[in-house]
Amino acid sequence: MDIAIIGGGAAGFFAAITAKEQHPFANVTIFEKTNRLLAKVKMSGGGRCNLTNACDSIDEFVEAYPRGKRLMKKLMYSFSNKHTMNWFIARGVPLVTQSDNCIFPQSQNSESIVDCLFEEVNKLRIKVKLAKTIKEISKKDNKIKILFDNTKNEYLFDKVIIATGGSPKRDGLLWLENLGHTISDPVPSLFTFKIQRDEISKLQGIVIPDAICSIQSTNLVSSDALLITDWGFSGPTILKLSSYGARILNEMNYNFTLRINWSGVKDYNQIKEYIIQIKNEESAKQINNFRPYNFPTRLWVYLINKANLNPSKKWIEATQSDVNKLSSIIANDTYQITGRAKFKEEFVTCGGVSLNNINPNTLESKKFKNMYFAGEVLDIDGITGGYNLQAAWTTGYIAGLLK
Ligand SMILES: Cc1cc2nc3c(=O)[nH]c(=O)nc-3n(C[C@H](O)[C@H](O)[C@H](O)COP(=O)(O)OP(=O)(O)OC[C@H]3O[C@@H](n4cnc5c(N)ncnc54)[C@H](O)[C@@H]3O)c2cc1C
Repeated sequence: MDIAIIGGGAAGFFAAITAKEQHPFANVTIFEKTNRLLAKVKMSGGGRCNLTNACDSIDEFVEAYPRGKRLMKKLMYSFSNKHTMNWFIARGVPLVTQSDNCIFPQSQNSESIVDCLFEEVNKLRIKVKLAKTIKEISKKDNKIKILFDNTKNEYLFDKVIIATGGSPKRDGLLWLENLGHTISDPVPSLFTFKIQRDEISKLQGIVIPDAICSIQSTNLVSSDALLITDWGFSGPTILKLSSYGARILNEMNYNFTLRINWSGVKDYNQIKEYIIQIKNEESAKQINNFRPYNFPTRLWVYLINKANLNPSKKWIEATQSDVNKLSSIIANDTYQITGRAKFKEEFVTCGGVSLNNINPNTLESKKFKNMYFAGEVLDIDGITGGYNLQAAWTTGYIAGLLK
């Protein structure tokens, strides 16, 4: 059996290794368009590679996939985050789990993961061809014929696994569309929010551990840590909104109103009662000298100013209107978002080959026999935290079984 793996990233390597382990007599070849293999794995997690997440239950784990949740749930029973951890540990890569459940190699260096994958590929005698871009793919008798750029030779395969990663533009997936696949439009996911110049940017670096952020005129809400940056807002709560809202925010052209509840307390009345309690119990103190919810001093002073109150006023002097203004700014602060910005260098594409076109048990195309899919080329993507690489390992493994 001749097997072609198109794409030398995480999903392609995992598919190739699995295919060769399952079909030891097959010829397995990875064809990579560029001269670099596993480039994203190398860059991942800021060079440390957040290869998966330690989340205990599959039901909970798959909540991290705004797209592809149902399919991931099915596939993870065959290859889960636990399988990933055991796979790397068994091949001599010790792992560590951070307090936020993100898993990294103990070396804190993505090279450990890259080296391990290369070692397996070499050990299994999987061939690797660089600088090979597909020009044409078609059926010939019972085989799949592939023509690559810069060569007249035609290659014939029994099975082909497509692991070409996410494409930021639909054009990049045209060749798969031409084979009959439906393409869900690619749009960016995992980004941060930009605002026009605003006083809040002076608070860059401040993290609010549990802010509730929502996007006006949508039902997008997320509650997690919020980071103030010099261009706007970042942190897990913003990245989650950008991932869950990838399509809606794209349709809004990244222009929308972000609401921030700085307290993490959902109920406005509870916030107001707390402010009244402070007014009564800390009456002799200046407003800026008693910070509700343990707000950082600079943020609290900023919020008092934004509510048009004098920070050196005493709590006892606060009027009913002052209490209302403070409660409102804590519960309902708003910012006009004017664009998106990168999250570190990490980006993920939402969209790709529609999952309706794929057999959910095998990841074989329903449109093109003996063609399988793995990784970000599929319409699966997750939030930050190791979920995207786990999708590459899981789908790479299942596609590599070639069932
Ligand atoms: C900077 C950065 C940091 C990240 N950090 C993390 C992290 O810490 N944890 C996490 O879970 N996720 C992270 N991600 C996301 C994660 O890396 C990707 O989701 C994952 O690598 C996707 O793997 P893939 O194999 O599907 O695609 P890719 O890694 O994109 O690999 C696809 C390969 O196919 C090749 N290719 C494309 N078209 C063709 C063609 N026509 N013919 C031949 N070859 C082709 C490409 O050149 C590429 O080498 C990060 C992403 C980035 C960009």
